[in-house]
Amino acid sequence: MTRRLAAVLIIAGVTASTVMAQGTAAPPPSDFDDSHFHLTNYIQEGIDVRELLNMMGTRVGRSTLFGIPLQQTWSYENSGSFAPTYYLQSDAPLYYYSFTDAYIAMTYRSLAPVDRARFDPMITGFNPADMYAADHIKRVLRTFPGVFTGIGEFSIHKEFVSSKIAGEVASLTNPALDRILDLAGESGLVVLIHNDVDMPFARTGTEPVYLTQMKDLLRRHANATIIWAHMGLGRVVHPTQSSASAPATERNPNFAMIVEGMLRDSTLRHVYFDISWDEVAKYILATPEITRRSADLINRYPDRFLFGSDVVAPRDTTQYYAVFDMYRPLWALLSADASTKVRKGNYERLFDAGRRRVRAWERAQGWSTGQ
Ligand SMILES: [Zn+2]
Repeated sequence: MTRRLAAVLIIAGVTASTVMAQGTAAPPPSDFDDSHFHLTNYIQEGIDVRELLNMMGTRVGRSTLFGIPLQQTWSYENSGSFAPTYYLQSDAPLYYYSFTDAYIAMTYRSLAPVDRARFDPMITGFNPADMYAADHIKRVLRTFPGVFTGIGEFSIHKEFVSSKIAGEVASLTNPALDRILDLAGESGLVVLIHNDVDMPFARTGTEPVYLTQMKDLLRRHANATIIWAHMGLGRVVHPTQSSASAPATERNPNFAMIVEGMLRDSTLRHVYFDISWDEVAKYILATPEITRRSADLINRYPDRFLFGSDVVAPRDTTQYYAVFDMYRPLWALLSADASTKVRKGNYERLFDAGRRRVRAWERAQGWSTGQ
């Protein structure tokens, strides 16, 4: 098989072995590409990438590949012999674990080229409150040229997490974050940013606390391709409700109206939304009416949403596919065009462009590996 044919088949979500096993029979089309996937967890443990490939099978065409930039400290003073594996299981702080980037790069490089083509590795191991963060990202690209497509998922405001991180708290107004996004705009790195739009349990009828700061940040970086993870929602960061005493209007918007306002805004054309995480699916699927309104919004702006699982180191296919399968009621309400774009087309457009731009930028720095 030629390299080019292999690459085409990979983009179509087919591995070489599938083709050989099936002869000339048309392979089943993949269900989705995963724009939000964690290979490792909050203690930097996870599954082997080959196990992931097995689970992807022919159902998943391509996937982002990243760990988690934060490590939960196992503080003996705090939890004794109990070893926490999640940030809610300990009062001890989280800290930035930069080795994750080397781990992800080496994992990717351990794969055959035909399998590498299915992954878009992402850099995450930087502290977004550190003016040196952009230098870390450059150092990772220089050390592992030909590997990374983007940065993220990294977090600025995140319920329960931000306040647990040792050192200075990250902020949307910190110039350190501007330096990171300047580099992304210059190099083509696709950005996957987690930033809660609001405080947990926010009051109804008020603008989400971080909305204006987030829009300002996004507008300062119109050259970057930026995906806002989870549309800014969280486990207890609910979609904004319009004030209950008055109907939803532009001056008293509900969450869908806020998102639509951003989609219509010509200064935010470089911004995309991922609907990853079962905690987000629970909002979209809360009632048939909300699911229908969400589908209507996606059908009107089909180029601007991406599916991602946000699954962390899944043990089996049931866990791996749970979020995609939860969304069946939503898939059923999307137009054929919107469904294909959200599940696959937008991923391929954005991440293919990211790959091309970052490889060209690396070559311009003299870091080419000849790939
Ligand atoms: Zn995530």
